[in-house]
Amino acid sequence: MPDLDLSGKTAIVTGASKGIGFAIAASIARSGANVVMCARNASELEEAAARLDALASGTVLGRPCDLREYDEVRRLVDFTIEHFDRVDILVNNAGVGAFAPVDDIDVETWRQVIETNLNGVFYACRESIPHMRRRGSGWIINIGSLAGKNPFAGGAAYNASKFGLLGFTEAMMLDVRHDGIRVSCVMPGSVATHFSGPGSHGGKSASAADWKLQPEDIAEMVLDLLAFDSRALPSRIEMRPSQPPKK
Ligand code: NAP
Repeated sequence: MPDLDLSGKTAIVTGASKGIGFAIAASIARSGANVVMCARNASELEEAAARLDALASGTVLGRPCDLREYDEVRRLVDFTIEHFDRVDILVNNAGVGAFAPVDDIDVETWRQVIETNLNGVFYACRESIPHMRRRGSGWIINIGSLAGKNPFAGGAAYNASKFGLLGFTEAMMLDVRHDGIRVSCVMPGSVATHFSGPGSHGGKSASAADWKLQPEDIAEMVLDLLAFDSRALPSRIEMRPSQPPKK
């Protein structure tokens, strides 16, 4: 397959300062698109955007945004339109984990997980879809998780957010498919990032996590999706490490 050319397109990638989001933003930028990256920590984001801008043929900009705040998400999309006049690709990647039995989850933690992993995705889609509809095309790729179909003890908050995200994503796909907007949910298993979750190496040596998927694996899947002909829509993609430790 020839290298994907996204020149002239614009993508928003959320949670792009590190981990999976950074790898996705890098792949899209290398394919020639303009990219707007967001995260809350402004200095980390600025540094990440500068690294990608240096290697991209398009323009890469960092825009700090807390996705839990609707007005901030609205300003993120407005910022993208002001700079590039279009949103062709929206990758809702940002997410947080919190893992404890239900009666040990404090209310603020519950809110943080649901408001980031679910509300924030809704806000970004709600603001981006009119711009995609205006051009008659677009692609929304939501980064879910195998935790969106497999419940586990201690996962109530995270499972709820990712099960909810899968339902949201598939219903939205039916809402917008006839407007030329494609919607997919990529559902990875364990990925070697600093995300804190069961089986995560969160800060420990990466070699302890050699069996895991790498962020670049998820980025490759996103680029593969974007390369599909407009008649085709892979809507739910499960990705897992091929050889996890035997139980
Ligand atoms: P990560 O390394 O912890 O990165 C998370 C990114 O999201 C960071 O850029 C973070 O930046 C940003 N973020 C968090 N809360 C945010 C908010 N309220 N507003 C804006 N940005 C926010 O995580 P990751 O492992 O790459 O995970 C990315 C996605 O993949 C998540 O949706 C996660 O659920 C999913 N996933 C991960 C794994 C895994 O094993 N790692 C497996 C399956 C699915 P700031 O902190 O500066 O905001």
